[in-house]
Amino acid sequence: MESLVFLDVETTGLDGYRDRVLEIYMLKVVHSGDVEEYHTMINPERSIPGYITSLTGITDEDVRHAPLERDVACGIREFIGDGILVAHNLNFDRRFLASMFKRNQCRPLHAKGIDTLEISRRLFPKLCIYPEGEGSHKLKNLMYHFRLEREFANSHRAKDDVFLLVQVYRHLESYARGQSPYSYPKAMIHGCPVCHSAMRMEINHGKRELVCVNGTSCNQRLVV
Ligand SMILES: [Zn+2]
Repeated sequence: MESLVFLDVETTGLDGYRDRVLEIYMLKVVHSGDVEEYHTMINPERSIPGYITSLTGITDEDVRHAPLERDVACGIREFIGDGILVAHNLNFDRRFLASMFKRNQCRPLHAKGIDTLEISRRLFPKLCIYPEGEGSHKLKNLMYHFRLEREFANSHRAKDDVFLLVQVYRHLESYARGQSPYSYPKAMIHGCPVCHSAMRMEINHGKRELVCVNGTSCNQRLVV
């Protein structure tokens, strides 16, 4: 059996070729149950845009003394080995890694991967939006969906997000196998019974209500 490599990158922007990785955290879970971790900050040799610092809390000062990409790129590739990558919106992380490996003449990245975003879309086509979930298939929304918010955080720092990702992956897997501890009203995962838009969850006086996001033309409200 191959190992699973859960990973998350924080970056200087959204462009996998022009922008650079600032932080990477990986957790390799070997079939035997052994776990290995890899973490590094990377000095991107450019200043970090303000919106990235607001999102992640990572400042220029934090990476001033961090290794350069060329010092760590091939070590990151070696850590992944033949492991199956697992990430939320894997193609984002994959573009950054593939271009980093190419720039540094490391072994190219293989194609094996599992995208928890894709799995979530398949299992919960119109997942409801939780009060602080920020969007239906966002990692943060899944955190609320699987009731993980007390123990885990979506901090947009690589290690926290990987720890959350591992739990989300396990919940998706058990749901797909019909072994989930939770069951959900149909409207929570398939959307509005009238117009099929996603529902937004509101909590009013301790009662959970689903409200159609298509509020102007569809006034569906359901207590769940
Ligand atoms: Zn509706």
